[in-house]
Amino acid sequence: MPLTDTPVWNALADRSMALGPDDGGLKTLEHWRLSQGGDGLLWLVLDRAGESANTLSEAVLEELDTMLGEVEALAASDQARGLIVRSAKRSGFAAGADVRDFRGIDDAATVHTRMQRAHGVIDRLAGLAVPTVAVVHGHCLGGGLELALACRHRIAIAGASLGFPEVMLGLHPGLGGTFRLPALIDPLEAMTMMLTGKPAHARKAKRLGLVDAVIEERHVDNAVRDAVGGGLAADRGSWKSSVLSLGPARQVAARQMRARVEDRAPKAHYPAPYRLIDLWEEHGADAEEMQSAEIASFSELLVSDTAQNLIRVFFLRERLRADGRGDSGVGHVHVVGAGTMGGDIAAWCASRGLTVTLADLDPAAIARAVGRAAAFYDKKLRSRLDRRDALDRLIPDFSGAGAAKADLVIEAVAEKADVKKAVYADLAKRMKPGALLATNTSSIPLETLREGLPAPERLVGLHFFNPVTRMELVEVVGHDKAAPETLARARAFCGAIGRLPAPVKSAPGFLVNRALTPYLAEAFVMLDEGLAKETIDRAAERFGMPMGPVELADRVGLDIGLEVARMLAERTDDPLPDIPQWLVDKVDKGETGRKAGKGFYDYGDDGKPRKGTPGAEPDQAMIDRLVLPMVNACMRCLREGVVADAETLDAAMIFATGFAPFRGGPMHYARTRGSGEVAAALKRLQEAHGARFAPDPGWDRPDAAG
Ligand code: NAD
Repeated sequence: MPLTDTPVWNALADRSMALGPDDGGLKTLEHWRLSQGGDGLLWLVLDRAGESANTLSEAVLEELDTMLGEVEALAASDQARGLIVRSAKRSGFAAGADVRDFRGIDDAATVHTRMQRAHGVIDRLAGLAVPTVAVVHGHCLGGGLELALACRHRIAIAGASLGFPEVMLGLHPGLGGTFRLPALIDPLEAMTMMLTGKPAHARKAKRLGLVDAVIEERHVDNAVRDAVGGGLAADRGSWKSSVLSLGPARQVAARQMRARVEDRAPKAHYPAPYRLIDLWEEHGADAEEMQSAEIASFSELLVSDTAQNLIRVFFLRERLRADGRGDSGVGHVHVVGAGTMGGDIAAWCASRGLTVTLADLDPAAIARAVGRAAAFYDKKLRSRLDRRDALDRLIPDFSGAGAAKADLVIEAVAEKADVKKAVYADLAKRMKPGALLATNTSSIPLETLREGLPAPERLVGLHFFNPVTRMELVEVVGHDKAAPETLARARAFCGAIGRLPAPVKSAPGFLVNRALTPYLAEAFVMLDEGLAKETIDRAAERFGMPMGPVELADRVGLDIGLEVARMLAERTDDPLPDIPQWLVDKVDKGETGRKAGKGFYDYGDDGKPRKGTPGAEPDQAMIDRLVLPMVNACMRCLREGVVADAETLDAAMIFATGFAPFRGGPMHYARTRGSGEVAAALKRLQEAHGARFAPDPGWDRPDAAG
């Protein structure tokens, strides 16, 4: 079939991407096409069938092997001057391995065999006798970058992003990255890229020597000709490469790397970065050794619990993301209440391209919010133009006129039903027909808030978490009168602003606050018993939480935590410990946590808690005492239908609270540990500490934990 007859090719009718000659088709397979121009250059184009982005499945690599056979034959008979490797996808070069292939794999030996075969294909590309050039645009990640690294030259289209995100999945590069990248660029930079998973944008990639040139799309033809003709002077390697070819130098560097990694990811929970450092320290001077060690290590990591759980988290995220697809019909958001939450929601929405009007009774609150937004844009948005545009889209609205033009109004005023209802009554007179009204309430039932609304079917809860700019989850709260279309649009709105929607029922505390409260409350009981706050926090960190409950309580705000606990005590049967008077006094004194500079910890300008050294090492009993009440509350929410299923629950807890991702979420943790064992541990705690630990009846169900 002529190359130009394929649907994707036709879709590129504007010919804005250079993908080789139209009429020189040599071979078309399912995922790859090979063509040749009159100039003798071969173009090998990856266009994975049935997918919007390229990933490297086993079939893609098998076909690549076949294509490389063709290229070798042409090269051997002097019929090829060079080979260009490109992607036909708009989205980018290749996003890496197909993570679906990694799911549920439990046999390291099979992985080992498959990886050896895959390496054989990539080595074949690296060994071609003709000059090879990868032209990369968009995402060039993981296996995609390893493919590009096997070419002699790499040319990036401006805006491309190159990196190795494998650590996020509990892995390290497995298709040659561990030895090809350190051989190409400063090995320390290479290790940093692989250890942090942070991608390099085209310009940085050029600076590092990872790509030979950064060009605009229209210059591709000339640039590849230059590269093949030897006219691209690559600026690669550094004096560090030769120093680090010596074992002792690598030992010193490896020690420093371990110390840095230790700060972020404990070895017991996240082995991959440590494995990578070991590999480099031991075999960094010998590519062949490194290759077999990489394959062995990757195969073992892939079947580990950590990697499999992180892969699970990857798919949980995809699932919530899929829920957020669709058209929200929201171009203009009006936010009422420019405090902690409203101000940050407005700033976030404007940074994601929406027009935002921000209103508050207090003009000073709007000014403060805009100031915070500007500081956030300065830090997070790369170009001056992006920063200016985001600020232009965030419109201070002192008269509240924006409500009449908005497709969505988000209310984030004080947590009082009568205040909120007065705001709605005023908005009702001005809102556009069909516009949605969302509330960020943490605790007021939506059934209360919808009373008296002219269009209750268009009210929805959008419960953002603090800090809005960092917490990915938004609970999308329904109620008895909410229209399905409203909920769908609310979810799509979350998707449009890069947030993950988790549908929950309008029950007290929804899911996340209800599950977190017993965990925080138990920490307060432990404090009451005289345990050091550092020890309590250390216990939760040992389990794998990003921060302990005492620090988290400071972060949330002790006043807010107190209100949620009171509300849950009042409106649920959840067996919570009594609220200690000293906590109430502390809040009354204004020691409300990080925002006040003082809570349980003192805070400096850097916003970090001043911690003392923890006393006794926490034991498993202490960890259980903190974590199991949260897991128990999750079970209660599941049983009561606050959230539809265990997967949504796990995702919500991970993306709203940072619940130990390598454990795959609270319900997955319970399943792994065994529901019977979780119930028995709760029983033991109940005997030792009281009725608040009574196991939820849900644990008795045969399909407990989902
Ligand atoms: P905040 O006190 O920081 O801000 C509230 C703002 O609303 C203030 O600037 C106030 O001037 C303004 N306001 C009050 N009445 C108003 C009115 N009638 N019209 C216009 N503006 C008015 O409060 P916050 O922490 O941002 O909380 C806002 C909402 O978000 C609450 O419903 C709260 O429960 C919810 N929430 C808070 C958090 C959190 O961690 N702070 C997390 C999730 C949800």
